[in-house]
Amino acid sequence: MDTIERVEIAVIGAGLGGAAAAALLDQAGFSAHTFEQAPAFDRLGAGIHIGPNVMKIFREIGLDETLSSIGSHPDHWFSRDGNTGEYLSEIRLGDFARKEYGAPYITIHRGDMHAVQIDALAKDRLHFDHRLTDIEEREDHVLLSFANGRRVAANLVIGADGINSAIREKLLGPEKPRFSGWVGHRALVNMDRLRASGLEFEACVKWWWEASRHIMAYATKRDRSEYYYVTGVPVDGWEHDTPFVESSREEMEAIFGGSHPVVNALVNATDHVTKWPFWNRDPLNLWSRGRLCLLGDACHPMRPHMAQGACMAIEDAAVLTRCLTEIGESDYAEVFRVYENTRRERATKVQAISNANTWLKEPEDPAWVYAYDPMTVALA
Ligand code: FAD
Repeated sequence: MDTIERVEIAVIGAGLGGAAAAALLDQAGFSAHTFEQAPAFDRLGAGIHIGPNVMKIFREIGLDETLSSIGSHPDHWFSRDGNTGEYLSEIRLGDFARKEYGAPYITIHRGDMHAVQIDALAKDRLHFDHRLTDIEEREDHVLLSFANGRRVAANLVIGADGINSAIREKLLGPEKPRFSGWVGHRALVNMDRLRASGLEFEACVKWWWEASRHIMAYATKRDRSEYYYVTGVPVDGWEHDTPFVESSREEMEAIFGGSHPVVNALVNATDHVTKWPFWNRDPLNLWSRGRLCLLGDACHPMRPHMAQGACMAIEDAAVLTRCLTEIGESDYAEVFRVYENTRRERATKVQAISNANTWLKEPEDPAWVYAYDPMTVALA
């Protein structure tokens, strides 16, 4: 006979935001079950920046030291002219960030970071191979149906299911994300060829050309034995129906060839490179309804140029958990109202600046992003 299990909180999606929500909720004493469509996670070839604003959350759940020991700790974020190499800005990180912003700034392989997050979760409450297919809002619970036939009744549901969120669709109706007109090439480069060039590859540097075309390059390991870049390039359209396509060194040469020698060496050290479309949505006018609420890319996706998309998802998770703790799960309407009031302005501002691709190109004070502490910020 068909059985329906009951859970207190269901988190849909165990991406970077969902995994953080699961850990924070667990630590706060809630019984949260996380349902992820993927059968397992791979170490995708990509890097990520994690600012001090989010390292404070990882400190709270006891993962900051592990992540710090794996990731690279750049002393600066440099912005440089892609042709001349001229320094456009030198933003202090390293010890300065630890002192001024209260936690380190790291760059890390996102697969390594995600694995640390997933390993820390209770296995009996993390359910892989569970693709949410149907959501039915009932009087005292939400009935969730999964592609594998399982059905679960949840008191509350947190949609951490990314840009194509099923929860967002339930709240706001079907609407495809918009192609932003930009793609990014992602590559872990050949370290032997990089070293053979004899040039210096800075731990965190963004190379800029006209029309905001750029390459963001950085180390993803503490000993700098792995180096990664992601580009931002405007294109006419995206005609593929896959999440990404293969690119090539030749394509990189065609776009970035004849640049500063360090960029040329980076392109020359490219063995395998993939090309990803950047999708977008306008800020949503609804973050929750009834027992459903959204966080992360499900709620405020953005082009990745500020390196804060996942950071916003994890900040959301921290603030939402605090609202649940302080207000109490039974008054979930108030929990979701305070959560949205506390998060909306900041997430929307980051979304706008990220989409504009202006962040740290010129000297500016990044304290409003990095000094923010989601664990102590006043709830609105
Ligand atoms: P996701 O990471 O997309 O996770 C959603 C999860 O939900 C997935 O695991 C998915 O399988 C699952 N799911 C989806 N639908 C269902 C369903 N129906 N049922 C069950 N599970 C489901 N951010 C930073 O902070 N720093 C950076 O340096 C940075 N660099 C970036 C570079 C690039 C090129 C890109 C594209 C993004 C970058 N970002 C960065 C942004 C960051 O990757 C996203 O903002 C972040 O992954 C969002 O996390 P999320 O948990 O909301 O969603």
